[in-house]
Amino acid sequence: MAFSPTGESALFVPSDCADRHWMRRALALAEEAGQNEEVPVGAVVVGPAGVLGQAANEIERSGDPTAHAEMLAVRQAVETAGDKRLLQTTMYVTLEPCAMCAGAIVLARIPRIVFAAFDPKGGACGTLRNVVQDERLNHRCAVQGGLLESESAELLKAFFARLRQKKK
Ligand code: ZN
Repeated sequence: MAFSPTGESALFVPSDCADRHWMRRALALAEEAGQNEEVPVGAVVVGPAGVLGQAANEIERSGDPTAHAEMLAVRQAVETAGDKRLLQTTMYVTLEPCAMCAGAIVLARIPRIVFAAFDPKGGACGTLRNVVQDERLNHRCAVQGGLLESESAELLKAFFARLRQKKK
């Protein structure tokens, strides 16, 4: 995998096995959110010492259209770390981040993103646009998409099928 150097610090890269472990944690958060009527998306921010922040979508519960899992996880991680820069971390998220979340990830200087499902309708980490690897910005992230993709896609598919069923 090719990494985009951020020039700020050496990149901490968990093993492939660890990547799967953390993505499963994000998927569990997503699944729980789906049971609470939220679009099932979960995110975990992990540093060398472990989890700094983890969250799922809370848009319905909070009535806040910006309460995406990644935003909440970043805020929590910043608080835990006591640092506005989340250097040496990886963001694990079950769906490709949107433009807002990708922007927040850049602002927080997260050096690496691993996501599960690609989002053809809003993905801003390579699908519709690529906010996190824009050469005009002074921070770029390494991105790995498609880890446990089918698990996340299944969750989303089942959620929207249930939603359509309810509307009938
Ligand atoms: Zn988002």
